[in-house]
Amino acid sequence: MEKPYQIPIQYLKGIGPKRAELFNKLGVYSIEDLLYYFPRRYQDRTKFSPVAQLRPGEIYTIRAEVMARGQRRAFRGRGLSITEAAVADETGKISCVWFNQPYLKDYLEVGTKLILYGKVDYYGKRLQMSSPDFEILSDEDGSFKTGGFFPVYSLPDGLTQRFFRNILKYALEHYLPRLDDFLPYDIRSRNNLHNLAKSLLEIHFPQDLNSRQEALRRLSFEEFFLFQMPLVLRKRKQKELKGIAHKIDGPLLSAFISSLPFKFTSAQANVTEEIKSDMASTEVMQRLLQGDVGSGKTVVASAACVIAIDGGYQAAFMVPTEILAKQHYEKIKSWTVGRGTLEEKIKVGLLTSSLSKIEKDKIYADIKAGMLNLIIGTHALLEEGVKFKNLGLVVIDEQHKFGVGQRALLPAKGPNPDVLIMTATPIPRTLAITLYGDLDISVINELPPGRLPVQTLYFDKKEKRKAYALVKNELEQANQAYIIYPVIEESYALDMAGAQKMYKQLKSGEFKSFRLGLIHGRLKQKEQDELMFKFKNKEIDVLVATTILEVGIDIPTATCMAIEDAQRFGLAQLHQLRGRIGRGSQESICLLVSAGPLSEEAQARMDAMVQYADGFHIAEEDLRIRGPGEFFGRRQHGLAELKVADPLTQLHLLKKAREEVISLLKLDPYLVQRQNQALKDKLLQRFPEYEKLILIG
Ligand code: ADP
Ligand code: MG
Repeated sequence: MEKPYQIPIQYLKGIGPKRAELFNKLGVYSIEDLLYYFPRRYQDRTKFSPVAQLRPGEIYTIRAEVMARGQRRAFRGRGLSITEAAVADETGKISCVWFNQPYLKDYLEVGTKLILYGKVDYYGKRLQMSSPDFEILSDEDGSFKTGGFFPVYSLPDGLTQRFFRNILKYALEHYLPRLDDFLPYDIRSRNNLHNLAKSLLEIHFPQDLNSRQEALRRLSFEEFFLFQMPLVLRKRKQKELKGIAHKIDGPLLSAFISSLPFKFTSAQANVTEEIKSDMASTEVMQRLLQGDVGSGKTVVASAACVIAIDGGYQAAFMVPTEILAKQHYEKIKSWTVGRGTLEEKIKVGLLTSSLSKIEKDKIYADIKAGMLNLIIGTHALLEEGVKFKNLGLVVIDEQHKFGVGQRALLPAKGPNPDVLIMTATPIPRTLAITLYGDLDISVINELPPGRLPVQTLYFDKKEKRKAYALVKNELEQANQAYIIYPVIEESYALDMAGAQKMYKQLKSGEFKSFRLGLIHGRLKQKEQDELMFKFKNKEIDVLVATTILEVGIDIPTATCMAIEDAQRFGLAQLHQLRGRIGRGSQESICLLVSAGPLSEEAQARMDAMVQYADGFHIAEEDLRIRGPGEFFGRRQHGLAELKVADPLTQLHLLKKAREEVISLLKLDPYLVQRQNQALKDKLLQRFPEYEKLILIG
């Protein structure tokens, strides 16, 4: 049933269909949306300046009375219309002007008392306030204090602050009393939260900074609460599913682990235990494996696959690029081929979209028949033709490269298989637990032994030579290097060097005496494979590349990376790129080359890269610089709806909100109790797609 505050904005007094379009531009469609359209900032109007003390170039708030008003047109009747008013307080007089708002004249009758806010400047020899914001004192309607903090909104052309403010006042006055507070009373009182009506009033027209702060706290809590709801509901749904109880202590796993050319780090061992206990249970595993680049996630995920295989199930391992799929495929083969039962029982297949139809059909058939039981692949795994015999485990590597929808497609191909997803964009654990609230989380918090931190240096483009000299120095010691460009073809518009052209230049110039290769996404898959193969075999010294190398590539003999136009890359991306080096036992260097002067944000990214090697630090910085909505992007679209809440600075509140959601759903799983009715309505309105999770049946 539609609530009074859910009616379309056009029916609000003073709006109508035409103006409604302007409101729609702001994402305001209903009266409720309007109430939730928060100010961008506030003007402090608590202190009034005496008119006699006004100085040019400053912004002031004054309290004054209209002494005279006038209306004229500049340039002989065409062009600007100018509204003028002379106003005065006890100390002096000043003239105020407004342009092209002739209707203002009606508000400015002689004798009207005003609060004016605006910039004072010279007009000829006299001081004048131009286009001040004003509020009529004698017009005051009692429920709103004049003076105080005035809201300033982001508005499109055609909507003035003054009009918008008045509309809001009207809406607040008429609809707040009828607004249900969907946060149950208990939760509010336990967390000392103001009620909704008071909070909305105070966020728009705060009495003072403290009351605004309280309003903000309540509204942030509410955003976190609504953000957590679907996550917790989804998790509950998962728990209701009956999954596979894998046999975790079969012989194959120990054979696998002991055949590896290295020993698990203790972090890898711990995480493997967590995964094992998930897999042993009939609950469906939904685990996120976080770990910095190079921390060794692949082998842990492979161990999970081995467990599934030992019990007669199939495992699917999905990665975002074809190069990476091939790399994993080869790596796993190298760990199993020629090793007795491992080779016999683990039948690895590779499925990518560049396979011919015949090859594909063959693999499809083998997957369906169970002839293959460890299938590594790209998005190609999601295709309809891919049918498993008994899919027991799904691994998704570099999950941030897949959408939420895609993440769900692969598990749907099996009888509630366990799911392990991996990310190298780690975020602090406490934050992760709340943000990925529908997943359990494991962290690999150490690198394999012997890794040296990558040294990172920044160069202005003018000093590019110095960077190249360092690259050459590495090459002369028989090491290999990557040189990365943001695009394939050079762009004059964006002033970006392109990999293609630079490759030619470098090859015949600076790096003439070395063997260069060029790799990018427009090459055929076969050509890409060949290049990677040659680089791996040290037949190429320098690989000039685009971000095709961003994820996963693991070639330990590469010890140097130069990233040109580094300011064009995001922080997470830079860290991922840098993660391609420092994988062996030799010290590696990363050179960021960029044309200054940099924007503040770009500078912050470069500084973070030079300063921090650790992915957790980098991610925190990235979050801080970009904000959570951008950071998580569409993957966590719920985060984009956080308007006032900030998970970084309000982590404590976020955790509280999550705890409240969990305990509420424990007490009243389907929100049938009366005091939770408003919440249920709100959820159904906000997340219609979760109706099945919210309602019984
Ligand atoms: P990521 O976590 O970035 O996906 P990888 O799984 O690609 O990292 O591992 C990085 C490299 O470290 C690989 O060459 C892998 O074989 C190696 N590696 C993994 N675990 C260990 C270990 N415990 N000791 C030594 N090397 C390891
Ligand atoms: Mg990886």
